[in-house]
Amino acid sequence: MSGGVAAERAGLYVHIPFCMTRCGYCDFNTYAGLDELKGAYVDALVREAELAAPDWAGVEFASVFFGGGTPTSLPVADLVKLLDHFRTVFDVAADAEITSEANPDTVDREYLGAIRGAGVKRLSLGVQSFDPDVLEALERIHSPASARGAYSSTRAAGFGDINLDLIYGAHGETLRSWESTLTEAVAMAPEHLSCYALTIEPATSLGRKVAAGLVPEPDPDLQADMYDFGPPVRPQPGLLGGQPLPRTRRRRTFLPRRPKVVEREATPAVRRDGGKRPAAHRRRRDPHRRRTQDREAAARPPHVERRSRDMAGPSSRG
Ligand code: SF4
Repeated sequence: MSGGVAAERAGLYVHIPFCMTRCGYCDFNTYAGLDELKGAYVDALVREAELAAPDWAGVEFASVFFGGGTPTSLPVADLVKLLDHFRTVFDVAADAEITSEANPDTVDREYLGAIRGAGVKRLSLGVQSFDPDVLEALERIHSPASARGAYSSTRAAGFGDINLDLIYGAHGETLRSWESTLTEAVAMAPEHLSCYALTIEPATSLGRKVAAGLVPEPDPDLQADMYDFGPPVRPQPGLLGGQPLPRTRRRRTFLPRRPKVVEREATPAVRRDGGKRPAAHRRRRDPHRRRTQDREAAARPPHVERRSRDMAGPSSRG
């Protein structure tokens, strides 16, 4: 659990380090198979909030973010209890942006209704792909159908602010598959999309497979093509409509000077600010390096138009 740095922009981040299984690319601080520790961890968070509260007296929290790990792997009563407790010991603004991450396989209509009723306003769903082969390559536990169902349930539960996380560049993923995932995600009309280029971290299942030569590293040229492929689906009604997205309140709090960043701690990350681009994009512009940007161009549907780069606009993942 940590607080934001500027008093007038304080945000509360609550880390829930439990997952059902470990995804192949993930090097977050999270654990599978330790469910018996959840209760003690929740109790420790409650106590820590009490201990930290005096240091934050007089500070209003504009956002609360439950991240992980998988916050929705907690029993719903525990998540509600934590939020209620933080509201008791901290000055959480009445209109605070309260977000939870969720794995599609951990939520149903009832669970989502309960956390919505408790005050969670924004849900970030880890969809990653609608291609079952890509999900398998990423070692995700859920199916595309599960992700679709979770999205529908989230809407049905009354959420008006939903983010979908997507990852591109898994081994075996083609540009056409990415197009299909992206098109479906946009058609669902979430308020926000976060798209991450897969990176291979050594201390992960995928990292070990790459080291052993069992799977290839992501192809940086193909990832560059995938990165560029976002803009064609940008002007969809209900998503961007050509207008900049509002930045999430959490991002405004923690990253006030980096308005076009899509990133996450120690995860596949793509920077879309004015700073250094990922290796894939630097390579793409180096005339001495291999270029494959025409790869699969013939397969691109004729209506697809290449436009400016910012698919996610100035906002990004919360
Ligand atoms: S990617 Fe998300 S769901 Fe998968 S192990 Fe990491 S934190 Fe858990």
